[in-house]
Amino acid sequence: MSSRYDAVIIGGGVIGCFLAYQLTKRGKKVALVEQGELASGASGAAAGMLAADCEHFEHPELKSMARLSRDAFPSVIRELRQLSGIDAGLNERGFLVPARDAQEAEELHAGMLADCSGEWWRPEKLQTAEPALCKALHGAVYRAEETQLLPARLTEALAYSAQSKGAELLLQTKAAEIREINGSVQGVMTSRGLLECEQAVLAGGWQMDQLLQPLGLTLPLEPVKGEIVEVHSESPLLTSTLYARNVYIVPKPGNKLWLGATSYSGDRSSGVRADSVYKLLSAGSEYIPEIRSSQFIRAWSGHRPKTPDGLPYLGGFSGIHGLYAAAGHYRNGVLMSAVSSSILANVMEGIATPGVNLEPFSPDRYQRQREGEMVL
Ligand SMILES: Cc1cc2nc3c(=O)[nH]c(=O)nc-3n(C[C@H](O)[C@H](O)[C@H](O)COP(=O)(O)OP(=O)(O)OC[C@H]3O[C@@H](n4cnc5c(N)ncnc54)[C@H](O)[C@@H]3O)c2cc1C
Repeated sequence: MSSRYDAVIIGGGVIGCFLAYQLTKRGKKVALVEQGELASGASGAAAGMLAADCEHFEHPELKSMARLSRDAFPSVIRELRQLSGIDAGLNERGFLVPARDAQEAEELHAGMLADCSGEWWRPEKLQTAEPALCKALHGAVYRAEETQLLPARLTEALAYSAQSKGAELLLQTKAAEIREINGSVQGVMTSRGLLECEQAVLAGGWQMDQLLQPLGLTLPLEPVKGEIVEVHSESPLLTSTLYARNVYIVPKPGNKLWLGATSYSGDRSSGVRADSVYKLLSAGSEYIPEIRSSQFIRAWSGHRPKTPDGLPYLGGFSGIHGLYAAAGHYRNGVLMSAVSSSILANVMEGIATPGVNLEPFSPDRYQRQREGEMVL
């Protein structure tokens, strides 16, 4: 382990690993510090949907960033496969947003026209393309551009590709303190000792406030627990991803389906509730009746990192030179990882990203609010 780096990244989730990959590609000397294993936080629990069109975004700028990010994945994944030998399992068969009744069909159709994205599939076309779907559906919007992948594999592929370009991966290593002198980052104290650096990045999911409190800074984040169920069938039941209002069903390699996801704000518990498994399987089998006779494989949970205003933290802290945050991507961290890491790598090099205003994503925004309240 060398002791001096250009940048130390705290967090081995998809955001930290993508940033490590971006920075090493730019010739930076990087260490990535992860307290457990790669993807042991939200990134290993995600469904892996890159749903830039289907998802709702709080800010118009996020929508266009999300589309840019989604569209970057096919070439990134090819690159990662060459460097790491790991295939992130990109599924490019598009998404279906189904209508259960005539009113839902009307709403979805109108929304599709207003959005200028997607194609309307009548029930006959839907049945031909996806014969296992319930015959009572009233059609669906088909979005060909939406994709999905295996998020834990993506995270590993990013980390090992970064390592192949010189990054140091320090797993089972906890970051305990950010060292600064006169308002400039000097290093990160970890359970393995001090890592000296000029730049430190907080990419540790929803638990970053502990590292900031000793510096008098704050980065409010709330965990939103989510659960997913995996089932297996003898033959494939679905090729495109089904993105319904009450459940999504994501086809994965080996005739597996992932059904997700629950959402419990502020729930820090681990494990999976029996009634969540019941609800997800019931909702899923209304769309694909054969799910009832499929084999239950496993269920898991994770915590989405949510900011109070729903916008991620992306950028530098004005109070401490060399300290950055890339956190709070809530339901869409896998999707946003390509664009967010590229923007932050630019910020760290002092380069502006054309067409992107970073002000709404400033990690200082709640700090400024708190200081304003204290003055009043
Ligand atoms: C059920 C579920 C379904 C989801 N589905 C999707 C989806 O389909 N598409 C999508 O885009 N997003 C999805 N998400 C959201 C996505 O998972 C997150 O937005 C994303 O993974 C956040 O990545 P991250 O790297 O910021 O955090 P994490 O993946 O949580 O990584 C943070 C890492 O930092 C480590 N860490 C924390 N503190 C320290 C410390 N002091 N020292 C060292 N290491 C530390 C943790 O161990 C962890 O591994 C889903 C989330 C859940 C829970």
